[in-house]
Amino acid sequence: MGVAEPHKTGNETTRGWQDRDHRHYLHPFTDHRGLGRKGARVITAAEGVYIQDSEGNRILDGMAGLWCVNLGYGRRELIDAATRQMQELPYYNSFFQTTHPPAIELAAVLDEISPAQFRHTFFTGSGSEANDTVIKLVRRYWDLSGKTDKQVIIARNNAYHGSTIAASSLGGMDEMHKQTGILLPGIEHIEQPYYFGLGGDLTEDEFGLQQACLLEEKILQLGAENVAAFIGEPVQGAGGVIIPPATYWPEIQRICRQYNILLIADEVITGFGRLGEWFGSTLMGIEPDLMPFAKGVTSGYLPLGGVLVAERIAEVVIARGGEFAHGYTYSGHPVACAVALANIRILRDEAIIERVRDDSGPYFKQRWAGLADHPLVGEARSIGLVGAIELVAAKTSRERFAKDVGVGSLCRDFCFANGLVMRAVGDTMIVSPPLVMAHAHIDELVDKAWLCLDLTAEHLGISK
Ligand SMILES: *Cc1c(COP(=O)(O)O)cnc(C)c1O
Repeated sequence: MGVAEPHKTGNETTRGWQDRDHRHYLHPFTDHRGLGRKGARVITAAEGVYIQDSEGNRILDGMAGLWCVNLGYGRRELIDAATRQMQELPYYNSFFQTTHPPAIELAAVLDEISPAQFRHTFFTGSGSEANDTVIKLVRRYWDLSGKTDKQVIIARNNAYHGSTIAASSLGGMDEMHKQTGILLPGIEHIEQPYYFGLGGDLTEDEFGLQQACLLEEKILQLGAENVAAFIGEPVQGAGGVIIPPATYWPEIQRICRQYNILLIADEVITGFGRLGEWFGSTLMGIEPDLMPFAKGVTSGYLPLGGVLVAERIAEVVIARGGEFAHGYTYSGHPVACAVALANIRILRDEAIIERVRDDSGPYFKQRWAGLADHPLVGEARSIGLVGAIELVAAKTSRERFAKDVGVGSLCRDFCFANGLVMRAVGDTMIVSPPLVMAHAHIDELVDKAWLCLDLTAEHLGISK
């Protein structure tokens, strides 16, 4: 008689979930009508590095949820930390001269694990909000420094910085720009360091320098006195796991210093161990002024984001700035901070990031590189525990398939049906698995990827 228990799948069929899903739930980045015809896959449980759907299929999660479940699913310590904090203090804000232990402790721990220039953190609820915060911090910093003309932020084509209007303006995704119609003024984009797609006949190192020089050209064109900051992901994630040549970031750093421009590293994916260092910037050899983060900070168990603010910025904005008129109801949410603390404790105690650097990362690199031998694969690249393969119609000429073939989605669907989550970005297949993957999981991931490449080739009538 009473109201059905909302989360129980017991007496609901997959079809039933799908029907209600379509009737009521508008998904992010989804063609609602198209999904309605197909029906969404209903994920009901997860454990370790596997998710489970409502049909009882067990699927290896090659994407760690959405780049975030770095510790894998079902970690008791995170669940306990949340439960304890819920009981003690489930919520309080820090707007009106109040604070609470979880946010203080997390900010202090972030000081310990982040590069030396950072001592302060501003908390947000997500990566998008972190990047909105970045824009305000940058403006405020230059205003307070008496350089009020320094307003333009330079970003890159095919960058992803989130989905709010400010964050999608920073991003370089054409589709998002077209649909929004409203974009923030004062943001300029330069071409990305995408060697496979744009490198032509240059060596990787030459190409890296050439793409970094685009920043210098843009600054000179705008006038350095008008440029506030440059923002980039150490490794582009949503754009297709684009790993810049080794020459790229050091040259970007040099240019930012020469022209007195702030350097922002969007660490939302690359933070908290993804590349085998606490932060991707360390691996790239750069010293950013601002580092937005989110995703892996809680292994996705609860939403949390923030911005690490270098002391030279914090001193000006906080010490001289009076009230910084910005913040969110959930800034420093105590339960999210408690989960982040537990997450970071495990990353430290179990030396998971060192393992990515010294063991699972190198093993993954070697196994993943083997996919380049497949006839559909034009390149297999990886760094830490992210990887991409480029699907091509002709291996040597890097010729792409025609757009209407939709080879990426085809391959992605074969993966899902065969027990692997691998994402398609156009015709680039990407993975970003939990950092706790054992060698056997990496073997399973690569073997399944190969099988699904075979199935894709077979479907297209391509002989091996
Ligand atoms: C996911 C992502 C964001 C946005 O984070 P949300 O929590 O989805 O708002 C920002 N930057 C990068 C690099 C991301 O991958």
